[in-house]
Amino acid sequence: MKSSPPARTSPGGAPGDRAVQLPHPPCRNCALCVPGLENLCIDTAYPGHQVFGGYAQYVVRRQDAILPIPGGVDFETAAATMWTYTTPLNCARQAPVGPGDTVVITGASGGMAIACAQLAKLSGATVIGTTTKPDRDEALRKLGYDHIVHYTDTRLPEQVRELTHGLGADAVWDCVGGNDFFQLSLSCIRLGGTVIVLGTPTDQGSRLELDALALIGGQVRIASVRGATLRDQQLCLELLAAGKINPIIDRTYPLAEAAEAHSYLESQRQIGKVLLMP
Ligand SMILES: [Zn+2]
Repeated sequence: MKSSPPARTSPGGAPGDRAVQLPHPPCRNCALCVPGLENLCIDTAYPGHQVFGGYAQYVVRRQDAILPIPGGVDFETAAATMWTYTTPLNCARQAPVGPGDTVVITGASGGMAIACAQLAKLSGATVIGTTTKPDRDEALRKLGYDHIVHYTDTRLPEQVRELTHGLGADAVWDCVGGNDFFQLSLSCIRLGGTVIVLGTPTDQGSRLELDALALIGGQVRIASVRGATLRDQQLCLELLAAGKINPIIDRTYPLAEAAEAHSYLESQRQIGKVLLMP
């Protein structure tokens, strides 16, 4: 006889409540979900990846794949927050930084990088952002970066060392990804530091080169982050409701102008998120 599946934990909610979908919806039943490792769920389906995402006025989701939007938070802000902050929250757990620590965040203008910077600042760390844009320093400092260094400047690793008493950064959170930025990350990290690979570039391969001597000699820890736990996703909305994080929305487009929105993203002129409005 086929047994009934275990009951799912219901988040509650009533018709008409405002809700946001989980970007990392766990099955809540598998061997990794049960002990709280929902980001490693073996039976998940990411919106926009394995199931249809948000390019629609209406979507259908299981009741346990949504969370209520806190009062005082509008739909746009909730939408801009969930994808952007949940993985960085998990990252902050994997490579925690605190007062006295310095973290380098690559691709400083991107939505995820800005989220990383805000979370690192919340932890009390000093934040160095890298950018390829020569005219962004002031705007990026206003978003919370303590220092901005330029990717095209060959002295970048030296500048990071000058800002860290000659040691190098305690952590690098690489939001760009790809081998070039991986090598840059290794050149900025201190002995015993941690490099977290977050970015997945689309314009180059995903292979990373690693010199075993550099790895051993530097005792460097290299890690990555897969999605976010259920707690990370709940915490994201709690931090938002408390005003502790501030998602940056660069601009919004109507759904009918999705192609223009993609062109704008590809131009890499944005600072923060670009939203489609159904
Ligand atoms: Zn699961």
